[in-house]
Amino acid sequence: MPLDVPSESSEVSDLIALLFETEQRLDALTRGEVDTVSSRDGRTLMLWRAQQYVRHTEATRQTVILKALDATADAIYLVDRASMKLVHVNDAACLMQNMTREQLMARGPMAALTLSKAELEQVYDTIIASGRPAAPIEMLRPRPNGPPAWLELRRHPVRVGDQWMIVTLVRDITQAKKAQNRIIYLNRVYAMLSGINTLIVRVRSREELFEKACEIAAREGGFRMAMIAMVNRSLMTIVPVASVGMSATVLQGLAARFASNEVHRTGPALGLTMPERAVSEKRAIVNNDLKANPTAIFARQHLEDGIRAIAMLPIIVADEAIGVLALYAHEPDFFHDEELKLLEELTRDIAFALEHMAKQDRLDYLAYYDVLTGLANQALFLERVAQHMRSAVKDGHRVAVQLIDVERFKNINDSMGQSAGDSLLRQVARWITRIAGDVNLVARIGSDRFAVVRPILLEADSMSALIESRLSAFSDHPFRLNDAVLRISAKVGVAVFPNDGNDAGTIFKHAEAALKKAKLTGERFLLYTPSMTRHVASQVTLESQLRQALENGEFVLHYQPKVSLNSGKVTGAEALIRWNDPRVGLVAPGHFIPLLEETGLIQDVGRWALRQAIADHLRWRASGLQAVRVAVNVSPLQLRNRGFIDEIRQAISVDSAAAGGLELEITENVLMEDVKHSIASLQSVHGMGVSIAIDDFGTGFSSLSYLAKLPVDTLKIDRSFVVEMTSGAQGLALVSTIVNLAHALKLNVVAEGVETEEQSRLLGLLGCDEIQGFLVSKAVPTGAFEANYLKRLL
Ligand code: C2E
Ligand code: CA
Ligand code: CA
Repeated sequence: MPLDVPSESSEVSDLIALLFETEQRLDALTRGEVDTVSSRDGRTLMLWRAQQYVRHTEATRQTVILKALDATADAIYLVDRASMKLVHVNDAACLMQNMTREQLMARGPMAALTLSKAELEQVYDTIIASGRPAAPIEMLRPRPNGPPAWLELRRHPVRVGDQWMIVTLVRDITQAKKAQNRIIYLNRVYAMLSGINTLIVRVRSREELFEKACEIAAREGGFRMAMIAMVNRSLMTIVPVASVGMSATVLQGLAARFASNEVHRTGPALGLTMPERAVSEKRAIVNNDLKANPTAIFARQHLEDGIRAIAMLPIIVADEAIGVLALYAHEPDFFHDEELKLLEELTRDIAFALEHMAKQDRLDYLAYYDVLTGLANQALFLERVAQHMRSAVKDGHRVAVQLIDVERFKNINDSMGQSAGDSLLRQVARWITRIAGDVNLVARIGSDRFAVVRPILLEADSMSALIESRLSAFSDHPFRLNDAVLRISAKVGVAVFPNDGNDAGTIFKHAEAALKKAKLTGERFLLYTPSMTRHVASQVTLESQLRQALENGEFVLHYQPKVSLNSGKVTGAEALIRWNDPRVGLVAPGHFIPLLEETGLIQDVGRWALRQAIADHLRWRASGLQAVRVAVNVSPLQLRNRGFIDEIRQAISVDSAAAGGLELEITENVLMEDVKHSIASLQSVHGMGVSIAIDDFGTGFSSLSYLAKLPVDTLKIDRSFVVEMTSGAQGLALVSTIVNLAHALKLNVVAEGVETEEQSRLLGLLGCDEIQGFLVSKAVPTGAFEANYLKRLL
């Protein structure tokens, strides 16, 4: 009786039921056997033969069944429930366990299981009670030689008379499982890829991208741990920037290890960790069986954490690995070609996003920040002002916008070079930021212009006092350029919300108007008033009018005599510029010099004044008039100009008598700002025979040691001291000190702005050499000066 090899487990259990039936029949035959020895009559013999025949048939049937079972690919175990003993195992079972049938039978049903006998009995009884096969069970079992196997267990109850047997069929499903896992793993990686692509579309910051990518690796990709490390380009090491599932100890340990290795180095990359190798070699580095190759750093820790496979994927931008995505899987053998291909696509997407962000960042940065100082620019500042205004409306306070102009910056930049100028601006930015207390309140809004926005809770008076004191602190602050200490001053214009406007743009414009006005009037700081806006509009016209004036020769020099207190004679004259505006007549220098300085026009106008004064002096000399020395005012901008010395040289080159007839008036502040530079250029000029006077003496902060080093001939005591002199003992003492000091340094002393006989008398008593002021004369046109103050010698 031929039998097919059973393939279904139910067929096997049917067959086994049949096997037992056969056996039982054989048993019964044995029990009912005719005793052929005692009764050898014909009937008995026939019966015996029949019995033998049946026995043979049943035995054959049994053999056939056993053969069929042995031919079955699944391992088959037969257990007698009552005795809990194995009653049969097939060849496949012996093969699977690598044992002989006898060895296997001797081990009993529990040997390959993790259950106790009582637990197994319970399992069997449940199956018997249900009368149906149990649901298949999958389990991972170690194999004596080779990797662990995935097994599927099916248990069937089989009734044999009044006994129960359990047939257990065990199938090696490792291969199927693998194929199935591949699909699952691939699906996980797909899910991760699509998750990250969705993320890339909406993520805005690098940090967010890194963090979320790791989260997605864990959630969608099902990875135990994930980490992103980026290359620090200055150190050429990698630095973890985001991770998920990783313990702090491991993360810190990795970071410390990374810090000691340079990636991208040439030569064999010995001693590099897997992530570092991925970056160095710009390719995926995979360990698919951490247990078999526990070479990775922290391998033991990873194994304890349930990690079985690791892949390191470089993130490549412009053919350079800028970072690495590290994925840690719980499943051994996770990373195959298909997965790696997808993961590489994923890191390409991340790289793309990073590249895009870098470009965007740069654009955003340039759109909103000043590269030199790192402060907000005007655009961002206006946004912030608007923000402050909104919260001011809510909280009922006011907002002040202060614009700060660094004085004479252009000048410093011209004379000391751009890198010195840049350094100064950075220092100024730091100073302002420190005073403002918060970098978000500060902006750089022009080459030498800064802005501060702040909520104000103070009254206008206290605010003014505060700004005044800050401005004093600013001009006292020693800024350092190269080796020199530099003191600079600033002007401030302020507008207040809501008093001066309702939107950020208007407030800003009005603060600008206040600043412009402050610069024009020489005030250190001004609060906006409505008339200023009109004023600013007129500035633009004024500037073009001044250019026109220079071209049309509308500037003129007036002369104010200086008189010796000893002899009463005219000893010199100060050339003071006026603008003969055809529309309005004479305009005083206070109205246009600041604008000339701001626009740089002062260089041209100053050159003109210098040449005109020399020409006038030479003309007096040539026409037989008493040729007194002419004093020309030099703007700080002129002095700082690199070409200054050459300009003087050229101006006096017209005649050998020119240098001796010229004096330069330079204000004290300017000299002291950059003493080294001043000493050097004044020495050159002095060497040419040109005299030098310190103007407005007493208003600056000269140090005596420097005064002695400067090649100066004359000190001009500022008018304010002359005024104070008659108002109290202190003023008098001050002027006395200045005169004595000047004489000790062998300097000639001139008192400016002398208006009264009283002032003149006192100055004489104190030993002052000369006076200049309305008491003698205002500055008068050249013709009048020549007629009234210059004696005809010939
Ligand atoms: P400064 O060099 O201090 O010139 C003296 C100023 O005081 C002149 O004003 C003069 O008219 C005025 N003054 C003279 N005596 C008296 C007096 O007794 N009482 C009063 N109250 N004032 C008196 P001005 O001409 O308006 O010049 C103002 C400033 O303009 C000058 O101050 C100077 O710094 C600048 N300046 C004038 N001309 C030039 C120039 O050609 N180049 C440059 N860079 N600056 C110039
Ligand atoms: Ca002067
Ligand atoms: Ca003066």
